[in-house]
Amino acid sequence: MIKYIAFDADDTLWENEPYFRETEKRFVEMLAPNSAYDTTELKELLYDYIVENVPAYGYGTRSLMLSLVGFCNQYATCNVSEMIESTIKLGQEQLSKPVVLLPDVEKTLKSLSQNYELLLITKGDLKEQNRKIVESGLTPSFKHVRVLEEKDEASYLNFFQELGIEMSEVVMVGNSYKSDILPIEALGGHAIFIPYKSTWAFESAPKKDSKRIFERGSIAEVPILISSIQYDQKNVPHKL
Ligand SMILES: [Mg+2]
Repeated sequence: MIKYIAFDADDTLWENEPYFRETEKRFVEMLAPNSAYDTTELKELLYDYIVENVPAYGYGTRSLMLSLVGFCNQYATCNVSEMIESTIKLGQEQLSKPVVLLPDVEKTLKSLSQNYELLLITKGDLKEQNRKIVESGLTPSFKHVRVLEEKDEASYLNFFQELGIEMSEVVMVGNSYKSDILPIEALGGHAIFIPYKSTWAFESAPKKDSKRIFERGSIAEVPILISSIQYDQKNVPHKL
């Protein structure tokens, strides 16, 4: 029986990804005239550079800033000190972006919280994620809020075991197939994939055919879908 609905935060409850792409775009445009590469080449090189740094730097704006500074140092053909200063400013701007809730988030959480316990599970930089969680004003909707370093099977299992939650009681809702959907399904939970208009290529993964994975176009469709999952679970014939 479903008792817990877990939500991803970035690009599921509020906008995030466009801020990263915008900062990267501005950075590449700033660097291109002072490098041996054009903006398209720099964009590709930067993607690889950032992904290579994920194991050491993790996720979030401050990690991005570190990668941009390192990248600048490696690819700029001019004196980099001024450029590094501008790069840090780009990151600081991104850190102070407002939290903009996605459509129907508030009413959906309100509706679901009448029948289920809601959990918020996000990953990344603790300070940055906590600032967004507080600013979102959504904290009262959630029974538990957790910022993980990584969203993989081991970290989810640790989280749910700590709370004494069985995976068969969980539905996870998120925009990252790799981080929100596949690990939860692998652990025995249900997952609802809600693609966002832009998703970091690093977070995409091949789709899996599973009776416990669903895809919907909007968070507003989640309550009715969960009711039908609940109905199907109740009506599964008992094994003899
Ligand atoms: Mg997300």
